[in-house]
Amino acid sequence: MIEQDRLLSALRSEARQAPVSGIVDVFNYGRHREGLIPLWVGEGDLPTPAFIVEAANASLAAGETFYTYQRGLPPLREALAGYIGRIYGRPVSPERFFITNGGMHALQIAVRMVAGTGDEVILPTPAWPNFAGAIGIAGARTVEVPMTFTDHGWLLDMERIAAAITPATKAIVINSPSNPTSWMASREDIATVLAFARKHGLWIIADEIYGRFVYEGEAVAPSFREVMEADDRILFVQTFSKNWAMTGWRIGWLEADPRLGQVIENLVQYSSSGTAAFMQRAALAALEQGEPFFAEQYERARHNRAIVSQGLAATNRVRFAPAQGAFYLFFSVDGVTDTDSFARVLVDEAAVGLAPGGTFGAGGEGFFRLCFARNSRDLEEATTRLATALRRIAG
Ligand code: PLP
Repeated sequence: MIEQDRLLSALRSEARQAPVSGIVDVFNYGRHREGLIPLWVGEGDLPTPAFIVEAANASLAAGETFYTYQRGLPPLREALAGYIGRIYGRPVSPERFFITNGGMHALQIAVRMVAGTGDEVILPTPAWPNFAGAIGIAGARTVEVPMTFTDHGWLLDMERIAAAITPATKAIVINSPSNPTSWMASREDIATVLAFARKHGLWIIADEIYGRFVYEGEAVAPSFREVMEADDRILFVQTFSKNWAMTGWRIGWLEADPRLGQVIENLVQYSSSGTAAFMQRAALAALEQGEPFFAEQYERARHNRAIVSQGLAATNRVRFAPAQGAFYLFFSVDGVTDTDSFARVLVDEAAVGLAPGGTFGAGGEGFFRLCFARNSRDLEEATTRLATALRRIAG
């Protein structure tokens, strides 16, 4: 043990102090439980559709096994420009797209581009823990700004954001729709954050990966791309993981001003040296033929959102804001404060896996995140089990 301590203390502190994910903790506790319905991780239960897998196979069979473009295959970048242009209704240049090993890698590069030792990055919380993880590993400090919970929705408190800005602030992360709260930024929120960024010379790391999982009103969540101008400092983190059930593939993209292209290419070179061509062919197939599959995933999520929201509300033991976007229900349970322990109790008593809220930073304590991107049968069963367990053991 002493040997291990000595070894660890010889490491760079930013690496040593990278936090263990609280989701992984409970996941490890319950992963082998017979009959457990796993709603703790942010993914569904559908495998990647066959047409995507076949595109990867065809690429490998055709011998695409060599190093490839650091920025991504030109046809994939073209297709992304077409896709984003279509979804958001405005043309966009393929030169803005840089293929990465998942959204996580895009985030890692984005943070490294704008923040390092001595810098601060503002992060509204509760937030996906990997934001703070990436910021910390880069040597920068995460400044958490807790959002306000109301039964109608989570609110981004602009006065708190303004108060958190210091001369060391380099960037602000906006993840909308949000993992874990399912909050969706309004157009006004977006305009205000952009105004702060312009005024203080901050970068915005915009994570809009759940932008098409929106449940009321619009087909796509309000986006920074609607209001940005040429010189705005915005880096968009994106991924193929969620829309096309490709979480295990590890392919995403960073979207940025083409003037940053050489820097991004270099950071790709020195981190992954590019994304495998066969994965890029698969991603291209997802963009070209994946709309019906996405529509199916969206419809499931919409249906399941109603199942879990209604089922848990009926227990009168939980509080949550209706999920505006993404595919998570973030709820508190009356009388439960230690969510790490209670998540384990729910593994044992209800055979349902939830992520404890404390892992999502300030304001997340006392909440649980439930991912509703699975089949409806599982969601119905999980809701019944949770409702029974909550009536029996909570409150
Ligand atoms: N951003 C958010 C908000 C996420 O929830 C996730 C995954 O859960 C990602 C980015 C990264 O996705 P991936 O690395 O699987 O592409």
